[in-house]
Amino acid sequence: PASPKAEAAESNELRSPIFVVLGHVDAGKTKTLDKIRQSNVAAGEHGRITQQIGATYIPRDALEQKIAAVARGSDFKLRLPGLLMIDTPGHESFSNLRSRGSDLCNIAILVVNMTSGFEPQTFESIRMLKERRIPFVVAMNKIDRLYDWKTTPDAGFAATFAKQTKNVRQEFDGHLKRVILQLSEEGFNASLFNENPDERKYISVVPISAMTGEGIPDLLLLLSRLSQQMMAEKLTFQENIEATILEVKMLEGQGTTIDVILSNGTLREGDRIVVCGLNGPIVTSIRSLLTPEPLKEMRVKTPFIHHSEVKGAMGVKIAAQDLEGAVAGGRVLVINERMSEEQAKREVMADVSHLLELISSTGRGVHVQASTLGSLEALLEFLRQMKIPVGSVAIGTIFKKDVIRASIMLEHQKEYATMLCFDVKIDREAEALTKELGVRVFSANVIYHLFDAFTAYMKELESGRRTDLSSLAIFPCVLSVVPTSIFNKRDPIVIGVTIKEGSLRVGTLLCVPSRDCVEIGRVTAIEVNHKAVPVAKKGTSVAIKIESDDPKTFGRHFDANDEIVSRLSRESINVLKDNFRSEVSKEEWNLVRKLKTVLNFI
Ligand code: GDP
Repeated sequence: PASPKAEAAESNELRSPIFVVLGHVDAGKTKTLDKIRQSNVAAGEHGRITQQIGATYIPRDALEQKIAAVARGSDFKLRLPGLLMIDTPGHESFSNLRSRGSDLCNIAILVVNMTSGFEPQTFESIRMLKERRIPFVVAMNKIDRLYDWKTTPDAGFAATFAKQTKNVRQEFDGHLKRVILQLSEEGFNASLFNENPDERKYISVVPISAMTGEGIPDLLLLLSRLSQQMMAEKLTFQENIEATILEVKMLEGQGTTIDVILSNGTLREGDRIVVCGLNGPIVTSIRSLLTPEPLKEMRVKTPFIHHSEVKGAMGVKIAAQDLEGAVAGGRVLVINERMSEEQAKREVMADVSHLLELISSTGRGVHVQASTLGSLEALLEFLRQMKIPVGSVAIGTIFKKDVIRASIMLEHQKEYATMLCFDVKIDREAEALTKELGVRVFSANVIYHLFDAFTAYMKELESGRRTDLSSLAIFPCVLSVVPTSIFNKRDPIVIGVTIKEGSLRVGTLLCVPSRDCVEIGRVTAIEVNHKAVPVAKKGTSVAIKIESDDPKTFGRHFDANDEIVSRLSRESINVLKDNFRSEVSKEEWNLVRKLKTVLNFI
């Protein structure tokens, strides 16, 4: 007997698949979303495309109209109730939708700019799609840019391509080959969509123009067909709800609300729900389920329609008590006979507990604040790789309390009094406080920009630390005095020396082991033939200047018979080990060991 899932699939009970649009900046993601959203009035579109919460819903009627140009005459039968398109293009939508256990993205469109080919975020998008095993198609965009291209607005690709000259086609072929090659370099077989020998093995490339609408019917038909064929089981409508919070928002008259993508199942007014919060699960009841009014008339008081129930897939706003602590990217579950309150609490918190483990147990480290759980996770992963400890995290707008938390590090480790903020607003008072307290804020809306800025800062700190330390970093050396070259006996001492072992650098603190290790001062200059040099190597003879706050005298505190050595200390040796390891040779380490004995501090 057929499984219930397969039966449901047979009996047409599919839910709407959810898709996202990804790609490099300027590839045309927004334009593609706009084009898909646009009602084609000329074609007499029936079903209304509606703006949902965070998403656009394309109902079956509208979809049928949109694909008519290429579906006509084919044996394709549309069985989906519609398509739900996530409105945020690019990586942000992805990190919003990162929640585990939810089916938030069934298929993706990877938009590639035909003339520039693959770009950094194209690779990045592919990496994310691979990681999450999301099927995708490639939209090779901007075909209208080909020289001499003849446009037929909103036409299917085959029809418009048939009208192009031989030169245009040749040029097109070159671009197509490159995209296919680049996909193969990423480990994917790919093919022009209408020549695809096996859609399970080859990625389809659909040439489109988001400007003129050419190829868009093919793109939507392909999405619909692939969804139906490959995901019939997944897309079967079910009663268990799957929902993810996109945003937590204040709404006048309703208090804090959550914008949710309901992937599957039915939400009803009055349902007891469990919502993910950073400080623990939130249990509450749905007061209202809202979607935007299709026509935004000025007379309408509230731009929202109330629903007694909403079926997935759909974007919906939930108003309820106690939602202040809800976190975007977290899940929403309904308590019912299949799901106990305890089980729901455990499940919604699963994502968070995994993240909280990445926070240092001492509470020492940078503060991280992000718009969603997904972006928080990406930031924490980045910092883990950079080996930068995280002291605290928060989600949503930055308030004074967050700045105060970050400022605690000023007393412990100044460089960690830093806030890494992704895609969040900062409250005015909080911003003033960061300046007042000296907390550094890195903020960006593109996660990679944030990584770059912070990496640059850490490098800068590192080199700053090395200059600070160079006064502390003492390299080992043994010197003897050149008796014929005593130029100045005191304050400053200027004498000729020969480097017998190690190397001598400006800044080295010197002492005389044979005279109770008396410190004679720091080398402030080294000269060879009247030319200043920073370092003198073993075997050379140079003139050096020695200065000290407590000046010593040549002839009294030491003389030409005494050996002079670097004044090493445990601390200075650690500095060498931690910061200058690559600059110290094996021979020099041996000398360090020897001097430790001479200086009597092993
Ligand atoms: P996004 O950063 O990926 O969202 O890219 P946009 O949709 O904002 O597009 C970037 C630029 O390319 C804009 O100036 C668009 O008008 C232009 N553009 C996008 N798609 C097309 C297309 O198919 N043809 C042409 N000629 N220009 C396009």
